[in-house]
Amino acid sequence: MATLIFLSIPAHGHINPTLPVVAELVQRGHRVIYYDTEEFRTKIEPTGAEFRAYPEPMPSSADIVKMLADGNIVRVSIEMLRTTERLMPFTLEMLQRERPDAVVFDSLALWGMMAARRLQLPSVASISHFVFDPTGENAPGLRDFVHWFGQILPMLPEVIRIRCRLAREYPDVFPRRDIFPTRGSRSLIFTSADLQPKTNQIDSTFRFVGASINPVTREADFPFDQLTRKPLTYISLGTINNLDTHFYRETFSAFADHPGQFILSAGQHIDMAQLGTIPANFIVRPSVPQLAILQHSDLFISHGGMNSIHESLYYGVPLLIVPQQMEQLLNGRIVAAKGAGVLIGDKPPYGQVTAGQLRTAADEVLRSSSYRQNAQSRSESLRAAGGYRHAADEIEQIASQQVATTP
Ligand code: UDP
Repeated sequence: MATLIFLSIPAHGHINPTLPVVAELVQRGHRVIYYDTEEFRTKIEPTGAEFRAYPEPMPSSADIVKMLADGNIVRVSIEMLRTTERLMPFTLEMLQRERPDAVVFDSLALWGMMAARRLQLPSVASISHFVFDPTGENAPGLRDFVHWFGQILPMLPEVIRIRCRLAREYPDVFPRRDIFPTRGSRSLIFTSADLQPKTNQIDSTFRFVGASINPVTREADFPFDQLTRKPLTYISLGTINNLDTHFYRETFSAFADHPGQFILSAGQHIDMAQLGTIPANFIVRPSVPQLAILQHSDLFISHGGMNSIHESLYYGVPLLIVPQQMEQLLNGRIVAAKGAGVLIGDKPPYGQVTAGQLRTAADEVLRSSSYRQNAQSRSESLRAAGGYRHAADEIEQIASQQVATTP
């Protein structure tokens, strides 16, 4: 039996793919200790892991939603660097005390990577997003790059200040070049090789484990008996960039007279009263059991978050992607290039779509069987990559080593 310590971040999209992996490891007889913020205890404990809360102060998921309200993902990088400064002494002391057989850290949990390296513990990085390379395949275009640069420029001095402090304090383990995604003795990426754009950032220490999906590790409460009309379209902007009430109202205008049925997950952080009158063919909730709903869906109108597109493709559901920030734009381009969906609202500042555009694009995806067929082909490659069982095998293999092999 191995002792495995998971170090994650307060974000559903980073935690969700690890849940089936943890449940599998526990079932195989390993002891798993999982660190996150108190807010996620009830999500993590049912896997059988021992949940432990990071010492406060930590950002809450609501803080991250606020930071990303304008789609500027650099703010999260800064927050993760600051969190690394705060958590390093704690993480070093805790890992020294526990001496786990392996440390599994999230792609943004830099404290996990740095502490595991310093203590020479076997380690695994958990990467729940594509690895994007500004010079590789699927690089952002000039207009996207200019928009992104405009967002990061005012924040660069702060990024440089924190990086310098971390490099001074931890010169032996602070990564000099690429910081995110973190890398372990092994790095698990929750996609298949055919979906990941080509980049030389991925080396022989990476493993493509496909989509990590097991509905029993997720919430299940939903009035499924109220699903009476077809086709069924599921709409969600995910758990972070989901404050655009204008977009939600546009979906009402686009589909109020549609013969099909619609489920809208509007997020935990908006005032439902701002949505106005909800059409009769819509069911609106702050959160829904997405995996269960996708198994009934004909179309997913999504922001293009990494988990959402993988979960949709896993169940062979074509997508209409309306990105809310640049990473989601790049994800959406991958889906569109594979013919498994359509991308709209793809010009900076992203996600600006009208009811008419939504209706036209949704009707097109629903009408043409090629989108569903292409989504189903991707489902096969995602399943063939092995999912959570493959991820658990890799972690077991790393945990059986005595010392870390640094990539
Ligand atoms: N999710 C869910 N119910 C909802 C909305 C989202 O279970 O009502 C889950 C979804 O299945 C996915 C995650 O939240 O696993 C969202 O992750 P993603 O990477 O798609 O987007 P993010 O929220 O990180 O932007």
